[in-house]
Amino acid sequence: MKPRLLCPGPTPVPEETLLELAMPVTFHRSSQFRAILGAVVADLQEVFCTKNPVCVITSSGTGGMEAALTNVIRPGTKVICCISGRWGERWKNISKAFGAVVVELTCPYGEAITPAQLTQALKDHPDAKVVTATLSETSTGVRNDIQGLGALVKDTDAVFIVDAISGLGVMECRTDDWHVDFCVTGSQKALMLPAGLAFVSVSPKGFKRIDETLTQGPAASFYFDLRKYRDNLKGNDTPFTPANTLIKALRHSLARLKAEGMEKVWQRHERMAAAARAAATGLNLKLFARVNPTSGLTVFEVPEGLDASVILSRLEKEHGIRIAGGQDTMKGKIVRLAHMGYIDFFEVLAAVSALELVLSDMGHKIESGAGVSAAQRAFASWKPGA
Ligand SMILES: *Cc1c(COP(=O)(O)O)cnc(C)c1O
Repeated sequence: MKPRLLCPGPTPVPEETLLELAMPVTFHRSSQFRAILGAVVADLQEVFCTKNPVCVITSSGTGGMEAALTNVIRPGTKVICCISGRWGERWKNISKAFGAVVVELTCPYGEAITPAQLTQALKDHPDAKVVTATLSETSTGVRNDIQGLGALVKDTDAVFIVDAISGLGVMECRTDDWHVDFCVTGSQKALMLPAGLAFVSVSPKGFKRIDETLTQGPAASFYFDLRKYRDNLKGNDTPFTPANTLIKALRHSLARLKAEGMEKVWQRHERMAAAARAAATGLNLKLFARVNPTSGLTVFEVPEGLDASVILSRLEKEHGIRIAGGQDTMKGKIVRLAHMGYIDFFEVLAAVSALELVLSDMGHKIESGAGVSAAQRAFASWKPGA
């Protein structure tokens, strides 16, 4: 059977990137590797829509989140966390682990944090030094209004930290124009690489805050000290042994994004997302994120009486299709179909078709082909900006 991976991370890796990963390991303190790192960072700046340094860290995405936060908080620092799901909660948990005081802005799962909520919070907490948010809330399938939130943080003393891990390279994320001081992503989502690298862009306001924070006492982290990454980057180098094999491979995945152009990349994902959402009607399933859906994945509610774990295991065992279930409190309630990175529309159709087969067989009322047909029609009639 042909395995198809449609999970919101890790995602499939393009062939040319896989071939690079099969090459012999090389030494990293060399002019050849420095040239590659320099080129990779320049390409990443295009993907991030930033002119600022993009720190390349060997860790999973959470390492990038911890790097951004620990450089600007100390015990007692007030952090406003915009929480629309499990990944928003991760910001809260990291903040608390390092002794920060957290102001939680929440909304029901499946919805987005509104700029109005943040306006009020900034008014109530003028002493807040950090605001965190999540571009694409992968646990619920929601897109947060980073542009709207960033516009509010811009004129305050707080720095704006965004988890763009499943959003960057999928949907519009204009780091500089949207006043994101720390933009974090990881390698295993839309950047089409295995897990192992995190990337953090830092604005001048962000670096200024790092310096100010250091006057308040010793650094909170040695490995994640972002000044080290910035300073080494000036010579196209990294402070510690980098996952140079991954960085060399990243060049190939980034070449795809560069050749296509970011606007086109965002449109391609929007179109696939529109098709996947349209499939819900044909599949007789409800969408979990109805108002502000992300373009990177589509989240379907599991109908009453059906066992999500059976759906997932049958999809994989009978059809080779691997999609994701819900996490933590969402376990059993939703299934998550990713369409980001190297996943294409025809794989989405395959997954919808397999879902039809499995759900029908489990007694769910579906007209054969209705999901596929709805997705294909939405794909055909899709227009940019509509
Ligand atoms: C996947 C994901 C992460 C993942 O972090 P890891 O440490 O790489 O597991 C964080 N935030 C979001 C929004 C994600 O989608």
